[in-house]
Amino acid sequence: MNELEILKKYFGYDSFRGGQEEIISSIMSGRDTLGIMPTGAGKSLCYQLPALMMDGITLVISPLISLMHDQVTSLVQSGIAAAYLNSSLTQRQLYKAMENARNGMYKLIYVAPERLVTDNFLDFALNAPISMVTVDEAHCISQWGQDFRPGYLEIPRFIERLPNRPVISAFTATATEKVSMDTRQLLDLRDPFVYVSGFDRKNLYFEVRTPSEKSRELLKLVQKYSDEGRSGIVYCSTKKNVDEVTAGLVRAGFSAAPYHAGLSEAERRENQDAFIYDRVKVMVATNAFGMGIDKSNITYVIHYNMPKDMESYYQEAGRAGRDGSPADCILFFAPSDIQMAKFLIGKSFEESEMPPETAETVRRQDMKRLDDMIRYCTSADCLRHYILGYFGESSPDRCGNCSLCCSDEMAEDITIDAQKIMSCIYRGGQRYGMTTIISALRGERNEKTAKGLDRLSTFGIMKDVPIKRIRLIGDKLLTAGYIRREEGLYPIIKLTQKASPVLFGTEKVFARLPASGERASRRRKEAAPMYSVDERLMKQLKELRMKFAAENGAPAYTVFGDISLRAMCEQLPQTPEEFLKINGVGERKLERYGEEFLGVIRRFAAENPYVPNSAAPQPAAAY
Ligand code: ADP
Ligand code: MG
Repeated sequence: MNELEILKKYFGYDSFRGGQEEIISSIMSGRDTLGIMPTGAGKSLCYQLPALMMDGITLVISPLISLMHDQVTSLVQSGIAAAYLNSSLTQRQLYKAMENARNGMYKLIYVAPERLVTDNFLDFALNAPISMVTVDEAHCISQWGQDFRPGYLEIPRFIERLPNRPVISAFTATATEKVSMDTRQLLDLRDPFVYVSGFDRKNLYFEVRTPSEKSRELLKLVQKYSDEGRSGIVYCSTKKNVDEVTAGLVRAGFSAAPYHAGLSEAERRENQDAFIYDRVKVMVATNAFGMGIDKSNITYVIHYNMPKDMESYYQEAGRAGRDGSPADCILFFAPSDIQMAKFLIGKSFEESEMPPETAETVRRQDMKRLDDMIRYCTSADCLRHYILGYFGESSPDRCGNCSLCCSDEMAEDITIDAQKIMSCIYRGGQRYGMTTIISALRGERNEKTAKGLDRLSTFGIMKDVPIKRIRLIGDKLLTAGYIRREEGLYPIIKLTQKASPVLFGTEKVFARLPASGERASRRRKEAAPMYSVDERLMKQLKELRMKFAAENGAPAYTVFGDISLRAMCEQLPQTPEEFLKINGVGERKLERYGEEFLGVIRRFAAENPYVPNSAAPQPAAAY
């Protein structure tokens, strides 16, 4: 069988995604290979498919039990003999698995790095036909990466002991030069073929919103997604936020569960499973939730708070739409997020044991990354262009799939309003808080403005402008660094150096004011309906999938991904041959699930002859 045949037969896909073919043929030619591709690009297939084509066994080294578990479950579902060896197995299970492995029953064996050099494992490995060693999440070997795992350093030592050096392949989503150099050197890759794919994830829609009330905005948004039957993640920056947001969602009747380091191991496991197995629709989590989450039908990721850097943001947002179907990444931004991020960065240093000079350098880097993150949140240009530029990739100025591109307004010139606000701050002696300044601008007489603000020429010069708008512009000036807040018993607002050219009229200020965000998503939906399939059939197929998932004791997406179900709704296959044409349906899945799924689809098509593509003749009058 050739590669394409195997791709269809076992994985159910008709074509390769970018990079897969090149990586696979490099591996098959016996060359060490390093694949650097973003989350969701399809790295697993790059070693799983060669593993099937090669004689002998492929060892996959993976950092997380949950990751191994999910991958092996998926493989077994597709009719591929695979197993994992890790501390979640009982002695007996482990013994059995090792025995099976010795008898050559598995094509792929997933193993934690620490186990490699144990006597028991070595005893097996030194006598087994190992044709490839694959290192997944390879950045874990680098101290420069975020997830350094000392056990990874055992890998090269293990490989050295093997009687014949197998092909080594390694995969990661971390693209920084330092980490990739480390990966190559520490793993001792020999003249490797290195594939670095573009970091663009075209199916992700990016949006930044600055809602005046985040909690209300969230309920509205989750309501919309939940009406569409979609599941997603809401990331918050603190445990406290996670608990509050979860409580709010649950109170409003949504099925949500929390995930953060303050919960017990068992609670975390339970909530994560509930989410992965689709019993819970919304996972509310800190950044503790993430690596190893391989759920393919997450269709939105909302950031309730701004993360501390773009790396974290892109990785977390990238957990949406892993199956390639359209997904939303929406970030809620408020100026108070900046304080919070600074606080969290500071705190991470209190807890670390770095020597002071190192800490200072790292802290400066962190602050710079935070600045870049803030710039994303306040960007007046295409968000995708900004992201890709950040990761060193060139791209068109406009992507057409982010809130900035979809919004028909151009950034607004707010220079005049900015001048009014800043001159009021200046004339008032830079001694007041924003609320008082706004009162003065609107010409309100009260105890505070009576202290002198009411005698200035700026008193009442914005009396026709709604408070909300003045406040928004004030926020923009704050985040863009024209003014700053000095904390104290009563925080006061001061001008920064950036303010003078604006006050003197030599520089203009532009901003997009938030309403455009909501309008943008409305427009986008009209332009390209994402879920145009018949929801009644979709619902029946999901129920059937749920039934099989329960029978298998495996997550629903290991039966079929949403994208496959949607294709079924669109194409309404009537025969096993047609069913096999659906993306995501391989031979094993046809055999196992074909009959029942076809049954549901046929019944639906017969009952709804007017649905396009249904088998019954379609009278012209139906259109
Ligand atoms: P990564 O490890 O790069 O983050 P995964 O290997 O988990 O990504 O793959 C992400 C998703 O893409 C999975 O649901 C996988 O089944 C799907 N996928 C991989 N290759 C293809 C392909 N050629 N066609 C369609 N879907 C694919
Ligand atoms: Mg992966």
